[in-house]
Amino acid sequence: MWVNKMTFDDIKKRVEKISKLMHLSEKEINILLKFKKIAKRELDVNGKKYPAFRILHNDSLGPGKGGIRYHPDVNEDEVKSQAFWMSLKNSLAGLPFGGAKGGVRVNPKELSKREIEELSRAYVRAFQYVLGQDKDIPAPDLYTNSEIMGWMLDEFEKIKGRHEPGMITGKPIELGGCKLREDATSKGGFIILKEFLKVIGREKEKSRLKIGIQGFGNAGFNLARMLHQEGFKVVGVSDSKGGIFNENGLNIFEVKKEKEINGSVVNHSGTKITNKELLELDVDFLVLAALENQITKDNADKVKAECILELANGPITLEADEILYKNKIIVLPDILANAGGVVASYFEWVQNKTGNIFEDCHLEKRFEDIIISSFRKVHKFCNEKEINMRTGAYIIAIKRILGAEKTRGNI
Ligand code: NAD
Repeated sequence: MWVNKMTFDDIKKRVEKISKLMHLSEKEINILLKFKKIAKRELDVNGKKYPAFRILHNDSLGPGKGGIRYHPDVNEDEVKSQAFWMSLKNSLAGLPFGGAKGGVRVNPKELSKREIEELSRAYVRAFQYVLGQDKDIPAPDLYTNSEIMGWMLDEFEKIKGRHEPGMITGKPIELGGCKLREDATSKGGFIILKEFLKVIGREKEKSRLKIGIQGFGNAGFNLARMLHQEGFKVVGVSDSKGGIFNENGLNIFEVKKEKEINGSVVNHSGTKITNKELLELDVDFLVLAALENQITKDNADKVKAECILELANGPITLEADEILYKNKIIVLPDILANAGGVVASYFEWVQNKTGNIFEDCHLEKRFEDIIISSFRKVHKFCNEKEINMRTGAYIIAIKRILGAEKTRGNI
């Protein structure tokens, strides 16, 4: 069972460590650890109460931006951590956004579609005063999707009595959504993985590279599909019910069919494995695309992958990071590897705000440029400073946020 404990304490420790490398002042550290707005409500659906949150971390670079998740383990500490990571992610990608996140403590699997719609509309009624295209802009995350974003937009516009499609991204295309957004997180991760292969001189080895993927939802499945279509060997995948393994490579489309029919990947042909075993597979790449705190001090020493790509936010704890680094396992960190979703969201927001509609090919090209340039920027900086990719990504992102705070006269 997933235990989400003290993630924000983990972040405080990371900031403390990095602040020493960056020689940050007490004031700068306080700014980084401060939250602009913490909004909490209880949502009522058919007499049942669901704690809900919308948290804005830092908005010095622009309005808050970050997803909304529906999960039984959602809590304030976790949403704060996610909002903090969004500030860094948006900053690193050079976007004009601050960081925010939202969540509802609910098991969406126990609700009917009608109840999920009611919950989503109740969320917007509760938080409409903090949301808006120039204030704070949500998007899909764990167990939320474009249909839910559509209901949320509809509720918001009804309350405000005007159109404002830029108040939310990841919407259906009909409501101003962007085609690129649907699988953008995975596409971004895929580009990063290929760029990484280039710098280590292994880009021609794809059919020999073995990959394991934890999580088979939007992020995990779409990356598995892209890898499979391009000839990489995805040997293991898992979801919340468990995983499967085939050392010759899985047919990802068949696995997807199995998940659609029976709700999980576990009964697809191949050896059944647990999520714990998936994390310990002897693979070249391990992709984490489910939840936070998956690799901890208890299992980090058992990881055999040469490189980990973080599509999930915060799947590796600070202590685990140190063990992986000692074991020479390279981590392509979340704020770099899963930024594709928010980059595509940025395009959607720009289109909504300006009324322009850009051609898909133009957006695809811009998208690739932003992701590749983020990767190269971090890689070059880390090589020069001889630090790991997470530390490098954090430093670059923090510098930009503090630069904005300084020019605002706050430092
Ligand atoms: P999703 O709801 O579409 O899929 C989640 C997947 O994780 C499902 O397959 C589920 O079965 C699996 N899962 C849940 N608990 C698990 C467990 N204990 N062990 C193994 N698998 C488990 O969510 P998503 O949008 O794919 O998001 C996955 C992760 O990626 C989250 O951490 C999210 O914050 C992050 N992320 C997503 C996006 C995006 O655009 N979707 C962007 C950035 C980051």
